[in-house]
Amino acid sequence: PPLYKQRYQFVVEFVKRHKPKKVVDLGCADCSLLRKLKFHRDIELLVGVDIDSSVIKHKMYALAPFPSEYLKPADQPLTIELYQGSVTEKELRTKGFDLVTCIELIEHLPLAEVERFSEVLFGYMSPAAVIVSTPNADFNPLLPGCSGFRHIDHKFEWTKTDFQNWALEVCRLYGYVVEFTGVGKAPSNDESIGFCSQIGVFRKDPYRSGTSVRCENLENTSSYKLLYDVVY
Ligand code: SAM
Repeated sequence: PPLYKQRYQFVVEFVKRHKPKKVVDLGCADCSLLRKLKFHRDIELLVGVDIDSSVIKHKMYALAPFPSEYLKPADQPLTIELYQGSVTEKELRTKGFDLVTCIELIEHLPLAEVERFSEVLFGYMSPAAVIVSTPNADFNPLLPGCSGFRHIDHKFEWTKTDFQNWALEVCRLYGYVVEFTGVGKAPSNDESIGFCSQIGVFRKDPYRSGTSVRCENLENTSSYKLLYDVVY
């Protein structure tokens, strides 16, 4: 399957295993991942955020319940909310989720905003788990016709070492542990190159929460604009 489907499938497998109840997808674009996640009925609140309202609006009504879902409501109601907003801004409604996904988002932020994004995500939203995927620059020489970045809107592409350095630093600052994995294997079985899309799976460090973790003030922030919501 194409790489983007493998990334969505990675998230779906994680959701099946860990059964989060509240999930937010940052940089949700046309809500493709949300349309897959809405079938996992352990989820009670599914939120999508993108800075670009037109890309959300393009297909957002596809998240509406099917007629059969009105006729046979699930035991747990499912709420879906879509917001226009920037992941570098704090928004009270995104605090305390079980899972935050950031699939091919971070490389679209100007490098100078990455630190601010890390603080908002890990310090303020402070979810139990985070999945971050981003291109692995070490893999680019294996991609036919790829000179420079994989996409013109990418502000940077990190090598494995760059990504791991960023991830380990946010773990240290905000009290998380991270596992590195990815999707898209190198054809040569050369493990030193790593995956085509590199993925970090972060979990709150049970030994550190509440101790030396950087704490956030509980300011009442509202920066997102609601575009769509539906209750199943
Ligand atoms: N996550 C989707 C996927 O995997 O198919 C879409 C990834 S797309 C390459 C990156 C998305 O991030 C775009 O829809 C873009 O509008 C969004 N984005 C870029 N900067 C953002 C920001 N500061 N806040 C929220 N979304 C942003």
